[in-house]
Amino acid sequence: MSPTERWQAVIARDRRFDGAFVYAVRSTGIYCRPSCASRRPRRTQVTFFPIPEAAEREGFRACRRCHPAAANGSNPAVALVRKACQAIAAGEPLRGDARRLARAFKRVLGITPRAYAEARRVSRFKQELKRRKQVSPALYEAGYGSSSRVYERTHANLGMTPARYARGGAGVGIAYVTVPTSLGRLLVAATERGVCRVALGDNAGALEQDLLAEFPGARVVQDKSGKLHGWVTSILAYLDGREPDLDLPLDIRATAFQRRVWQELQRIPFGQTRTYSEIAQRIGQRTATRAVARACASNPAALVIPCHRVVREDGELGGYRWGTERKRSLLTMENGDLPRLSVHRNPVADL
Ligand SMILES: [Zn+2]
Repeated sequence: MSPTERWQAVIARDRRFDGAFVYAVRSTGIYCRPSCASRRPRRTQVTFFPIPEAAEREGFRACRRCHPAAANGSNPAVALVRKACQAIAAGEPLRGDARRLARAFKRVLGITPRAYAEARRVSRFKQELKRRKQVSPALYEAGYGSSSRVYERTHANLGMTPARYARGGAGVGIAYVTVPTSLGRLLVAATERGVCRVALGDNAGALEQDLLAEFPGARVVQDKSGKLHGWVTSILAYLDGREPDLDLPLDIRATAFQRRVWQELQRIPFGQTRTYSEIAQRIGQRTATRAVARACASNPAALVIPCHRVVREDGELGGYRWGTERKRSLLTMENGDLPRLSVHRNPVADL
């Protein structure tokens, strides 16, 4: 298949090609099966790979909406090669007929198994360097081995913030950026441990003032180093409908009740809604509907904690800390075909 034919299959969301190839989007770092329901990227952002493992080798992550790695084509050579790639990734020896495997590799990936393994090592090394640049070096000094472990810890600790937070962030360093979206200005702020605020507003100045008011004791600086770039890119991809599950490490302050509500909000899938009383029931406090609404209204991390997915029982939207119109736009976007909410072309230029 030529790239043009593949692109046509992507444009048509043609299910017949699921398992025949995947497409990866450079701006989001995510790869999908051809039929994925997410919004079509620009052609210039797209790279095709014959199998999911090849996309992963280049550092792309599987889309959580279409689960591209689960699509199996009918080609036995592809199945053979995929299995071998998985063995290579797991550090296991390759089994079976070496010549047959080599032929299948040549046909599917155009290289030998050995060349694939070598290319994989090089590419992983590059990714590691890139990740170290994105994540503050301080995380590594703190003895965190990898960003995924950082994620696990901070995520597990949602709301379990250190005492310093109770003092207006005294002594804490907070870096932030603001970028334009069609929902207005987006502010993302983070400590060394994770994102501490995601807010939407009409202009950067007001968002900055709110941030300073929230953390009067902190050293709040605009991020010039680009360390927030990865997180901002994820949020913009979410606004484009291309990253349904925003998994960002959070460093936020919460009461025990707020923490339970916010964690429950994070369990609402992309494109779905719950009512305030459903959330109250799910956290085992069926009479706490109003307290749930208050916890939603005090959510410090817009989008990452999807409080916009909670609506009133009567079908009305209910309130939204960042404006009801924005809530409406987000729910429409999650439901399908709205224009991209991110108007951003090159986040780096704006950081
Ligand atoms: Zn997808």
